[in-house]
Amino acid sequence: MKDFAVVGGGIAGLAVAEMLQRSGASVVLLEKNKTLCSEASAEQQGWFHTGALYTALPSNFFCRTMVGNLDDLVDYYSWFPNMNLRVDKHIYTTSREGWFANRTNFYVYTSCRGVSWKWKLPWAVALYRAKRRMSWFETLDASRSLSHQLGFGAKPLQYVVHRSTLGVNLDHVAFALKSRDRAMNTKLIAEDLLRSFLANGGLVQTQTKVLELEKGAVLAKGTAGEAPVRIPARHTILATGKDTTSFETNTKVFISPLLVVYPALTDLNFVRMSPHMEETINHICHRNNGLEYSLIGNAVYHDARQETGEVLERVRASMLGMAKRVFGDFDAKSTDLFFGYKTEVSSSSFIRNYLYHIIDRGNYTLALPGKFSLCFSLAVNVCRHFGIEPVEQSRVAEPETAPGLIEEPLHYQMAKRLAEKS
Ligand SMILES: Cc1cc2nc3c(=O)[nH]c(=O)nc-3n(C[C@H](O)[C@H](O)[C@H](O)COP(=O)(O)OP(=O)(O)OC[C@H]3O[C@@H](n4cnc5c(N)ncnc54)[C@H](O)[C@@H]3O)c2cc1C
Repeated sequence: MKDFAVVGGGIAGLAVAEMLQRSGASVVLLEKNKTLCSEASAEQQGWFHTGALYTALPSNFFCRTMVGNLDDLVDYYSWFPNMNLRVDKHIYTTSREGWFANRTNFYVYTSCRGVSWKWKLPWAVALYRAKRRMSWFETLDASRSLSHQLGFGAKPLQYVVHRSTLGVNLDHVAFALKSRDRAMNTKLIAEDLLRSFLANGGLVQTQTKVLELEKGAVLAKGTAGEAPVRIPARHTILATGKDTTSFETNTKVFISPLLVVYPALTDLNFVRMSPHMEETINHICHRNNGLEYSLIGNAVYHDARQETGEVLERVRASMLGMAKRVFGDFDAKSTDLFFGYKTEVSSSSFIRNYLYHIIDRGNYTLALPGKFSLCFSLAVNVCRHFGIEPVEQSRVAEPETAPGLIEEPLHYQMAKRLAEKS
């Protein structure tokens, strides 16, 4: 009898299982596929938000969540040898290689000139707020708890304001914020969490699909057609990403496109912020195993239930059109497009919430990360949710303990194929 059965071996399940196991609980992690982090956690672009991106949003809640997550990352994960994000007065990376890329991201806010009349006033307010809030980040003392410092009087603006277009065609730029956000090496993070989980005695069972959740057990079957078995556990945590909809109706699934371009179009990382979702575009230059490629996303989401070939074609054309406006003409043959699934807890008020959720549902506890990068706060808070004090340090097993158990991110697989073709 284990203390916890964690269902779903994406980043949410893995991070939660690791934190529970290192904090003294016994955990079995159940995954239906052959590898871990093979679904949404392999279909993302790897971008770590400290919250700067959300400075223009009306609610403080987003910033606080992102920054609280940064506190948890620093408090509970700094002992991992590859965790290269450090804080004293400021936040910086200690090495080129590690969990976080050693490069700057820009948030480029489009000016009011670039938005429709209906958005002019709200956008002007949002720009003003973004500038003011950014000064919080610039004046925070990163060596003390960041979340506790947020919200106190903003000091004069100190951030860098670029009125230039940063070398790409980002028309109507109001200002660009240089952020300390970093792109993430999601595979390395997942590998390290898995090695810690195993070193602490955690059990991973892949190719095991959970069918039913009972009080004190889950009913699962192997993918080779074996008869279902009951796996007893005192508590069950459901971290099944988009498949959560087969256990409950209270979640929404969106599909979100990402364009992979090989070779990279620029080494600049940026988000062009606009109130018009289709005009918001972000670019990350990934360096992975010797390949350098671009990942381009936008902020348009589609309800996964309406996914059709026609929708995908339309999205592909619009993504390519936008990328060409920003980067100039390039060969469409050097691109590939894929859709990833984002799962959120439904709310009546709106669309995306980007927050992590821990919700008791009787037979199980739902754990949804909202973002890959929020897995740290999710794990720490699941522990606390069960009255377990999270342990700050642990140990990691040798790299060869779990070879090949973490899936390569989809964008890397695609860039590799494009590179081979060219
Ligand atoms: C296009 C795109 C871009 C993104 N960009 C970013 C970004 O820049 N930054 C960021 O932080 N986040 C980003 N995200 C979000 C991030 O990828 C997800 O929030 C996160 O990876 C979700 O992790 P998860 O563990 O909840 O889901 P998943 O990774 O999907 O894991 C769920 C797992 O559960 C398993 N499973 C399902 N049902 C069962 C069952 N019955 N039995 C056993 N196993 C089961 C599945 O096989 C899967 O492995 C992006 C997402 C997309 C799609």
